[in-house]
Amino acid sequence: MNIQTEIKSAVDPIKLEKLAEVAVKVGLQLQAGQDLVITAPIAALPLVRLITRHAYLAGAGLVTTFYADEEATLARYAHAPDESFDRASGWLYEGMAKAYADGAARLAIAGDNPMLLAGQDPAKVARANKANSTAYKPALEKISNFDINWNIVSYPNPSWAKVVFPDLPEEEAVRKLADAIFAASRVDVADPVAAWAEHNTNLRKRSSWLNGERFAALHFTGPGTDLTVGLADGHEWHGGASTAKNGVTCNPNIPTEEVFTTPHALKVEGHVSSTKPLSHQGTLIDEIQVRFEGGRIVEAKAAKGEAVLNKVLDTDEGARRLGEVALVPHSSPISKSGILFYNTLFDENASCHIALGQCYSKCFLDGASLSQEQIAAQGGNSSLIHIDWMIGSDRIDIDGIKPDGTRVPVMRKGEWA
Ligand code: ZN
Ligand code: ZN
Repeated sequence: MNIQTEIKSAVDPIKLEKLAEVAVKVGLQLQAGQDLVITAPIAALPLVRLITRHAYLAGAGLVTTFYADEEATLARYAHAPDESFDRASGWLYEGMAKAYADGAARLAIAGDNPMLLAGQDPAKVARANKANSTAYKPALEKISNFDINWNIVSYPNPSWAKVVFPDLPEEEAVRKLADAIFAASRVDVADPVAAWAEHNTNLRKRSSWLNGERFAALHFTGPGTDLTVGLADGHEWHGGASTAKNGVTCNPNIPTEEVFTTPHALKVEGHVSSTKPLSHQGTLIDEIQVRFEGGRIVEAKAAKGEAVLNKVLDTDEGARRLGEVALVPHSSPISKSGILFYNTLFDENASCHIALGQCYSKCFLDGASLSQEQIAAQGGNSSLIHIDWMIGSDRIDIDGIKPDGTRVPVMRKGEWA
């Protein structure tokens, strides 16, 4: 009880309230009468309650929250029978898919301990993840196809804060992580809703410029990197707010600093080195070096976590191909904070990145009307996974290559050219 009170006091209540308001008004643009499905770690209860209140103030029909608990997860690894690790709550995901098909919006609160499963059998973790990804597919498709408005925000869960700031006492770690989340989420200003409108305008300028250029490929060069990423036919750049198929303009990721599009699954050539560690389900994968041929990773090395990296690449055929390429200036606020969050939502917004696996269908011109087959024919990748990792730094240059071979500087030393 005491600890709970102390931790609560480490999180500025006014900024937490603003985060809840931004999640509902900017992140979701929740519509009057719309239902909302929330998933959250149990530690994020204070934020769930604030979001629920703001959702009903915005006219929500029905708000339903599903909580995850770290101790319950660990109890499964300690005591569940072996067959448990090939199973997942498919019935729950089918229900969520039905809720989204019926018009509900989706909000996820991130904040899980990124190292929770670090001490568990990696084979069991991989099996459980695969079973979960497979069962989750009907619900995830509604989100990755952007059928509905959705949003992710974060809560400074103490177990996460201890991973980010291992040398600080818990209360201090929570306070620092909370402040970093609030700054990155732009709720530490007088009018966060107005700040988001301005940020969205700036991101739209970048994506409009890239869409106008119609590059056939991007060429990344820097230490350990000489990579040509062909872009999908009819690709479209996005950044900041965008409009879901249900007509609602939302900001799926809070924070967000990226503009991103779909690479061509068959047209990636050369080698690339990661510039920041990738935290993947309890393992830190660091100093990744991979080589692509015909869009496929044919060689993969990592100074740390190489076995886990190779397991990820073996998930399915699409796991060795790219589903996203994203541009983030080196001077982004999250990059400047110098904090490794061990959480993709933050870390991907510190640097240019690529993602292995599933592409976003919204990153195509007229994406909403394309079938899965058409998306594949235009070079869109499909996979059970979508894992972002960082390849940008202040030593990376990027050129855009036009279909006739003309080169246009896009970034120099990590900044917009
Ligand atoms: Zn991204
Ligand atoms: Zn991504």
